[in-house]
Amino acid sequence: MGMKGVTDVGEPCFLSVVVPMYNEEEVIETTYRRLTTVLEKMNENYELVFVNDGSRDRTADIVRGICEADKRVKMVDFSRNFGHQIAVTAGMDFATGRTVVLIDADLQDPPEVIPEMVNRWREGYDVVYGRRIARRGETWFKKVTAAAFYRLLRAMTSVSIPVDTGDFRLMDRKVSETLSSMRERSRFIRGMVSWAGFRQTSVDYVREERFAGETKYPLRKMLRLSADAITSFSTKPLKLAGILGFLLSAAGFVYLLVVLYLRLFTNATQPGWTSLIVISLLFHGITLSLLGVLGEYIGRIYEEAKGRPLYVVAEAVNFDKRQERSLEEAGAAYRQPV
Ligand code: UDP
Ligand code: MG
Repeated sequence: MGMKGVTDVGEPCFLSVVVPMYNEEEVIETTYRRLTTVLEKMNENYELVFVNDGSRDRTADIVRGICEADKRVKMVDFSRNFGHQIAVTAGMDFATGRTVVLIDADLQDPPEVIPEMVNRWREGYDVVYGRRIARRGETWFKKVTAAAFYRLLRAMTSVSIPVDTGDFRLMDRKVSETLSSMRERSRFIRGMVSWAGFRQTSVDYVREERFAGETKYPLRKMLRLSADAITSFSTKPLKLAGILGFLLSAAGFVYLLVVLYLRLFTNATQPGWTSLIVISLLFHGITLSLLGVLGEYIGRIYEEAKGRPLYVVAEAVNFDKRQERSLEEAGAAYRQPV
């Protein structure tokens, strides 16, 4: 094709940019153009890995059109919606770059930051994550819940996950391969990157307003991601039962002494129902919520135990055979096109 930056078949490229997409028909063209402008200026060969996460709109068709015109663009088309973190994982499984960038489709993470990330990588860092110094155009609810979540996570987990970072980041190949080798289903990419270690640093950026369309992260998905993050990186909630049990037993013992004293040395009348009801409600509440915590973990153990592939690919466009092989090694279900 003679296009600048096209990789020869089988030759790994310098930079892979992974973009997960769920119902993003309104933003794809613009995102593609802005990414291309930035990447062409860098004079390195690159690939764009667009992952269509089971969109119900024209996302797949639009991406397919771009793939036809520009062989640097590749598409992993899921058989259904598997969720953002899984889509990003598939992109990393397919990526061939020496460096891999994860970026959202909606231009909230400015592509212009990528060259800066590459510079830090050249200085010898293996992970360069974007830190949001400001968030524009997001509701106060999103900002408050996000801030609370990052801080809760920091208090709960033993791996240090940097505060106020999203998935927008650059990784050296060895880091993305480490992540690809971790096949757990409850995925919290940020935490997994921290867990992987290596030399990490950050670049600051302003998180822009979503360019078009609406958020694909309703409260339900945010809560799920938070639960995944905490259960993947912390067993503290499980220990809560032990701690609460101990405290309550201690309180119960003190109360026992009080009751014995009242019975033996005073003429206090029978204690009323109130205290019994209060204690019963309190204990049942605590027991049930701790059962819920157990359920969260057991449910995840069950999901992992089934050992299903993380995602199912319906079609892979513009990938060469080598990438498809590495995909099979990663244990992804993939139907070879006929
Ligand atoms: N996304 C996805 N699958 C989903 C939900 C979201 O691939 O089930 C993608 C979405 O297309 C976008 C990125 O994940 O590229 C972040 O989503 P969004 O911008 O809606 O989240 P927010 O910025 O509001 O947290
Ligand atoms: Mg967004």
